[in-house]
Amino acid sequence: MLTGKDYRESLADGRIVYCDGERVEDVSTADRFRRSVDVIAGGYDRYHDDNPDAISAYLNAPSSIEELRDHANLKVDPLISSTYTSLMTLLTSADRIEEIRPESSAAIRKYVRQMQEKDLRIVECITDAKGDRAKRPGQQEDRDAYLRVVEQRPDGVVIRGAKLHISWAPLAHELMTIPTKAMKPGEEEYAIACAVPVNAPGVKIINVTADPLAGDLRDAPISTDAHSPMGFVIFDDVFVPNDRIFLNGETEAAASFAHSLGLWVRINGLKNMADEADVMVGFAQLVAEANGLERVDQIKDKIADMVIHATLIRATLEAAMGNSSISPEGVVVPDELYANTGKFQGAAYRNAMIQHIQDIAGGSVVTAPSTKDLANPEIGEIVRKYMGTKQSIDGNYRTRLFHALRDFTASAYAGHQAVSVIQAGGGLFAQRVVTRSRYDMATARQMALDLACLDDPWA
Ligand SMILES: Cc1cc2nc3c(=O)[nH]c(=O)nc-3n(C[C@H](O)[C@H](O)[C@H](O)COP(=O)(O)OP(=O)(O)OC[C@H]3O[C@@H](n4cnc5c(N)ncnc54)[C@H](O)[C@@H]3O)c2cc1C
Repeated sequence: MLTGKDYRESLADGRIVYCDGERVEDVSTADRFRRSVDVIAGGYDRYHDDNPDAISAYLNAPSSIEELRDHANLKVDPLISSTYTSLMTLLTSADRIEEIRPESSAAIRKYVRQMQEKDLRIVECITDAKGDRAKRPGQQEDRDAYLRVVEQRPDGVVIRGAKLHISWAPLAHELMTIPTKAMKPGEEEYAIACAVPVNAPGVKIINVTADPLAGDLRDAPISTDAHSPMGFVIFDDVFVPNDRIFLNGETEAAASFAHSLGLWVRINGLKNMADEADVMVGFAQLVAEANGLERVDQIKDKIADMVIHATLIRATLEAAMGNSSISPEGVVVPDELYANTGKFQGAAYRNAMIQHIQDIAGGSVVTAPSTKDLANPEIGEIVRKYMGTKQSIDGNYRTRLFHALRDFTASAYAGHQAVSVIQAGGGLFAQRVVTRSRYDMATARQMALDLACLDDPWA
């Protein structure tokens, strides 16, 4: 297993990364990535095991519902979480494509083992540039709007295209690259799934981050560590050798990867949402107490709404895990109906929960003086005095609580999160599609007919 130091060193591998219009020579030391690298390196150190045969417990596929549940409760960094999602996506897809492409099933299992043994980090490259959304890949004016194979060779393929919005791309080692959706006959060049090293010749990554750009990082206690780089990953005629190709032209299996990924991204997203929903309740309660209003009815009602929201999200997470199935290869697969319902609920109603926090908290969410103001000998005492509520609620504590609330609900990072929760893992429409297809409509329909004492007109 790698240590945090090994990880930092591993990033100096010739990768081509840009940020703010400039080439980043060393991502491990660049200002815009420094905090994110610290978070990932810290994750490596926390779980490091000196045993040469050890592999990260987090990267093992759970083989029972209990293991799945224990796994979901581990606190880890987002990049290892993305690695786990990628490995589980590949293993689930390996089962689904076994009959069509047995050689890829074997290649996937070998690749997964290698990644576990080398302790490398993987990001999920799915979302294509997509060009004109109303047109299919093969109908685009620019054929590269969806990633495609531009050359078949005896020893591999050459791919061209771009994958956008890729979380953590510049800080990972591997790009799990899969089709964004189902492909039809005639779209064989787009039915490509493979694994590409971040430093492969032809890969370029252009980044943005939602880091707190200016000021005192103590005023941004959440986003300082929680923000992530987002990569626009370009594949400029990248060669992929045969042993890293998992799909090549089999259009009928193109959707298997995206479906498998959708499931694992949503179950992971749901876990984060369940935790975040509890944090939101906690923030609402803390600020109600800090304002002296925790016993007032209209405040308690809002917090009760938030408690119901948090509890519903956790219930869907529990139901998704509790109703898991086991694949023929022994991989536990969470229930898609509950996972997608929970992800939809969490994303669609999150803004209402943020609004409750802001409503309960008051204007200091955006106007509380800074940490440096608190520390200034001329004005610090005055800030403390007027930000205080009563003896048990010191102005220092209350100001810092408002800094956290601003960071969480009203900063650039908060805006980033609002979009992220809706779009990452597929927009709300994607969850509507899956829930409709997995829901037992026939039984629901029959129950309604029975209650209405009607015969089925279609029978
Ligand atoms: C913070 C963040 C992190 C992300 N991380 C990753 C990542 O790590 N890896 C990755 O691969 N992707 C990632 N994504 C991408 C995410 O999956 C996409 O943003 C999402 O799938 C929507 O795609 P899009 O942004 O291209 O929007 P579009 O596809 O343009 O969709 C915009 C809207 O148009 C609708 N729409 C699009 N096409 C049609 C159509 N033909 N007919 C009807 N309606 C249509 C959609 O339903 C949606 O409502 C991330 C996104 C965000 C915001």
